[in-house]
Amino acid sequence: MAQQDETNSSPEHRTTTVEQGRFCVARCTCGWRGPARRARSMARTDAEGHGDGPLA
Ligand SMILES: [Zn+2]
Repeated sequence: MAQQDETNSSPEHRTTTVEQGRFCVARCTCGWRGPARRARSMARTDAEGHGDGPLA
């Protein structure tokens, strides 16, 4: 509970978005990684879908 990111729906799936060159990628503390997106908003949507999804 040290820090909270913008999308923090579960303590075991703490997602963040990181920039990789021109792209933005969603990442999770569980090791999951989303596809490279050109827009950060897209990467964030991926992160939200991951944390909330039943397959998380
Ligand atoms: Zn996760």
